[in-house]
Amino acid sequence: MNMEIYVILCKSCGSEKIVKDGIVKNKQRYLCKECRRTFRIGDGREKYPLDNVVMRF
Ligand SMILES: [Zn+2]
Repeated sequence: MNMEIYVILCKSCGSEKIVKDGIVKNKQRYLCKECRRTFRIGDGREKYPLDNVVMRF
């Protein structure tokens, strides 16, 4: 059984300690447990655009 895990990095500090924080305007919002900031994917404000979503097996 293959596992696909999407690792999302915080846009502010680059941490992997991200949790889902509800849906805002039909988009998933995430909360960083390191810096306590919330962000959404694909809003054009990525500080770490290339590493924002990494697929691991
Ligand atoms: Zn952060």
